[in-house]
Amino acid sequence: MAEPARDNEHPAGSAAGGSQRPVGEVRGCGARRGPVVGVDAGGTKVLAVRLGPDLAVERELLRQWQERSREAVIDLLLTVCRELVDGEDPLAFGFGLPALVPKERGAIPYSTHLPLEDVDFRALAEAALGRPVAVDNDVNCALRGEAALGAARGTRDAVMLTLGTGIGGAILCDGQLFRGARGFAGELGHIPVAGRTERCQGKCPGEGCLEAVASGGALDRAAREAAERGTIAALAARARRGEAVDGALVTELALAGDADCRALLATLGEQLGAGLVAVANAFDPEVIVIGGGLARAGELLLAPAKRVLRQRALPGIGDSVRVERAQLGERAGAVGAAIMALEMATGGSERSVTEGAAPSGGSDG
Ligand SMILES: [Zn+2]
Repeated sequence: MAEPARDNEHPAGSAAGGSQRPVGEVRGCGARRGPVVGVDAGGTKVLAVRLGPDLAVERELLRQWQERSREAVIDLLLTVCRELVDGEDPLAFGFGLPALVPKERGAIPYSTHLPLEDVDFRALAEAALGRPVAVDNDVNCALRGEAALGAARGTRDAVMLTLGTGIGGAILCDGQLFRGARGFAGELGHIPVAGRTERCQGKCPGEGCLEAVASGGALDRAAREAAERGTIAALAARARRGEAVDGALVTELALAGDADCRALLATLGEQLGAGLVAVANAFDPEVIVIGGGLARAGELLLAPAKRVLRQRALPGIGDSVRVERAQLGERAGAVGAAIMALEMATGGSERSVTEGAAPSGGSDG
């Protein structure tokens, strides 16, 4: 751990209330516009960005997890912040965690990939960094980023699904992230799909969850099964050569034109479509944003999903809701976390802090 935390000008108590409610009483933040740092803690890596006053990404850090102990994970999350601040006087920090993050203070009750259960990460980070800290679920952060600068820009009602090993979700409702009573709302990967009985992943006790039938993890399983049974020749051939067979390979072969792999993605897309129907009917969003690694399959996955959405959602909803790929790429969560931190520290709304920002502020290149 490098430098000690700066003088604690903003005692932890003054920033209570989480990242949703703007905190106006943080002293001295109104006029100052020091750098804000956003950190996205993924399952395999940490991506952190430092935003300048115009919300452009000034610096970016990517680190792989080396060690998965609780101490090592927390240490890396704090270290990337200190590296990006680089001796300057930061305004605030934001973190997106793959976890259920309490709306108010308190310990994390469930964390998907990282050993952060029972940790009050917000209090811990504020004490260590000496500045206001916003902490939220990683998909909430990604949607905040997409709503500010990406595919959901200009909308007040949007839903995001991230298709990775699991399926994460987030809901923007009338311009605000919808968090539920405890802060845990938006777990859209655990919507049950009618007629499906697959066991869900992680600690979810559900069966036939959307995540169990339409995630990258579900595609991994389908790919291995197809290789073992020999139902997809290209996958079986790779397996015979001792190569790893997984969903990423299916996507790669499908994009290269393999008809069997395209059919497998289409089946997954139809199952995803069943989830989109539930989401569209429940929230009537302007746009459903699809992110995560599996979104790389593009229309091979999304066209069948949209077809099911148009066919099965209620008239007036299914024919008007847009389905779009996320635009900020893997930066969405880190950018969104930084915007939440800025919003919290300045007491501003998302729209006021993102006014005038370039639409491409967080995109690649
Ligand atoms: Zn589930």
